[in-house]
Amino acid sequence: MPTPEKHALLSASSASRWLNCTAAPHFEEQFQKTTSEYAEEGRLAHSVCELKVLKKFTPMSSRTFTTRYNKLKKDPLYNVEMDKTSELYIEHLTEAAMMYSRPPAVTAEVVVDFSDYVPGGFGTCDCVMIGGDTLNITDYKHGKGVLVSAENNPQMRLYALGALKRYQPVYGNTIKNVRMTIIQPRIQSEPSVETITADALIAWGETIRPIAQQAYMGPGDFRPGEHCRFCRGKAQCRARADVNTALEEFKDCVPRNCSAPSYGANTLTDDEIGDLLVRGKELVKWYNDLEDYALQTILNGGQISGWKAVAGRSVRTFTDQDAAIEAVLAAGYDEALVYDRKPKTLTALEQLMGKAEFMDKLGSFVVKPLGKPTLAPMSDKREAYNPAAADFAEAAQSSGGIE
Ligand code: SF4
Repeated sequence: MPTPEKHALLSASSASRWLNCTAAPHFEEQFQKTTSEYAEEGRLAHSVCELKVLKKFTPMSSRTFTTRYNKLKKDPLYNVEMDKTSELYIEHLTEAAMMYSRPPAVTAEVVVDFSDYVPGGFGTCDCVMIGGDTLNITDYKHGKGVLVSAENNPQMRLYALGALKRYQPVYGNTIKNVRMTIIQPRIQSEPSVETITADALIAWGETIRPIAQQAYMGPGDFRPGEHCRFCRGKAQCRARADVNTALEEFKDCVPRNCSAPSYGANTLTDDEIGDLLVRGKELVKWYNDLEDYALQTILNGGQISGWKAVAGRSVRTFTDQDAAIEAVLAAGYDEALVYDRKPKTLTALEQLMGKAEFMDKLGSFVVKPLGKPTLAPMSDKREAYNPAAADFAEAAQSSGGIE
């Protein structure tokens, strides 16, 4: 992802955190920034996407493209999936470009400055498209762990504010609408989009300006919540620990009727269980973060009082699988009994063929059964599970009625 954000105290990508917890930016400074193989892989995937945007929308010879692409492919983290996901990214950008009545101006990896709203704020938009009265900014996300929505997304809005500022000298006040798109092809085929007017975007920028100022100046207010997830200090933050160890809070939601002891009074109501589930969710995440931190500390040679690292469960494996199989065959077992002949999975075949050919040749064979019911808070964007619809889908599927 964008290199310049490494140096911004209030980065766009961490905006959902510092907008909620204004203490976070300075608090995090004491903890070392780390990178992971996933992050490096994401960086490489962005480079592939950037190259393809330039090839698609700007003059670039095939030779230059091939030379640059071959160089990227030599990276040990390159894998063929990046080729497919970047193609999907280009497909979406092409569709977005076709929404304009005339070909829009398209640029990749645009550094934008949103310091009018956020002190020292700047970052990089993966793709900016401008035409008519609409600015379209797109962010490619290679991660497949957490699905990110473009709706009310402060990262996208800050990029958009920066892009408005950058292109204002060229386009003046002709830009009236801003379309913000997140493409996360490894977990969702359709992009997530939010469109708002330029005026509404600027008004939003005004609302966050004082919060950004407070976060920049410090010390700010510690406010634990879901946004702690990517905070570098999430395990060592005392405010988060205080909230999660405030057991009195839990007592409040389980009223006891001591004057009239009965089995009823000793049984949690469904409302109480709903409330406890909400409160306990953050507690579980926090505990997991503490475990990760403690294990890493011990593995790094440190000590966590009362805890040690042990080897986890492992499975047996052959030192040399080919030699082992040969030994089985030599023992007289038939090959048909030794080998399983399995077709590739649906996802692997889609990666092999590409989305378009896959849908063309295999689309009619694909069904998507309703997933197993799982508990989710009311705020979850998915529709509530409907047992009747699930039964119907199962019956239709078994009779071959769903396509
Ligand atoms: S862990 Fe949460 S509360 Fe603590 S500084 Fe980070 S974001 Fe703020």
